[in-house]
Amino acid sequence: MEEDPNGRFLKPVKLENCVICKEAIEPQRTPEGDIFWTHGHNARPVAEGQCCDDCNYSVVIPARLRA
Ligand SMILES: [Zn+2]
Repeated sequence: MEEDPNGRFLKPVKLENCVICKEAIEPQRTPEGDIFWTHGHNARPVAEGQCCDDCNYSVVIPARLRA
């Protein structure tokens, strides 16, 4: 389990791993810190599955623009 950067998990969550870099996908939180989304971004057309923020912006979006 990755350590939460804020040092807290309000509820137990199962983090998914990015299909591109294999790192845990950082959960999306409300300003209050509640996790509302743990699935990252659709990695297509680069890969089948879900990817993290970093890969979405550095790999997936550029690939879509080239498509
Ligand atoms: Zn990634």
